[in-house]
Amino acid sequence: MTPNYIDSHAHLFFTDYANELTAVLSRAKEAGVSVIIVPGTDVKSSREAIQLANQHENIFACVGIHPHEALKAGHQDLAEIEKLCEHPKVVAIGEIGLDYHYDFSPRELQQKYFVEQMEIAVRKHLPVVLHMRESTEDVFSIVERTVNVNPNWKKNSTEPMRGVFHCFPGTADQAAYVHELGFCVSFPGIVTFKKSNSIEVVKQIGIQNILLETDSPYMTPVPLRGKRNEPANIVLIGRKIAEALNISEEEVARITTENAMRLFSPHQFRKE
Ligand SMILES: [Zn+2]
Ligand SMILES: [Zn+2]
Repeated sequence: MTPNYIDSHAHLFFTDYANELTAVLSRAKEAGVSVIIVPGTDVKSSREAIQLANQHENIFACVGIHPHEALKAGHQDLAEIEKLCEHPKVVAIGEIGLDYHYDFSPRELQQKYFVEQMEIAVRKHLPVVLHMRESTEDVFSIVERTVNVNPNWKKNSTEPMRGVFHCFPGTADQAAYVHELGFCVSFPGIVTFKKSNSIEVVKQIGIQNILLETDSPYMTPVPLRGKRNEPANIVLIGRKIAEALNISEEEVARITTENAMRLFSPHQFRKE
């Protein structure tokens, strides 16, 4: 049986994949990737993500302004993101968050755009795809505040999850904490890197609340490091996790796909 994966985070924008996109998508299909979620990083790429979703049945889009892009964004861009949410194949606001590693945008500005987009997500009843790098304390406090001031965002067993911390950089305890807040975590090829302890975190938290992602074109898993990443490589991530947890690859694919559906589908995968 071919495993059935969802790549929950792949930036398949035109410029990165250009003429090759058809081949990339057919390799993904062959590898067992049934759905690909494409997050935007600014208004332009959010529109491109939607355009891809329009053209391909198994592609869904997220729209949002990445912390790197906060400096270049204008207030009008937030209004535009909110408008783009109306598209039937938009499944989340993302990726949004704080990146204090590169600090490409001033931190106050990153925070302003992050907070405002969390509010858009609340208004639009969409989950969020979060980017957090060396900014754990501030991301947690903004997420906590959003959950606390919006009672309908409080975790509740009948409610869907509120979002995913993509490329989760935290500890197992922090993963448990975000789960309490109603969020899950996702892992790209970093689980295959020798100097990362992500695979240890996966071993401690188990597979019940994790999603898989390639983060294409970045984070190419071992043994393909150095090459441009693509959704078909999710198999290498699934295999590594299967080995670490001593379960089958099919099981890894099945559970992480169910988790992704639980996060994104209450809002979407809706065919109208
Ligand atoms: Zn990111
Ligand atoms: Zn990303």
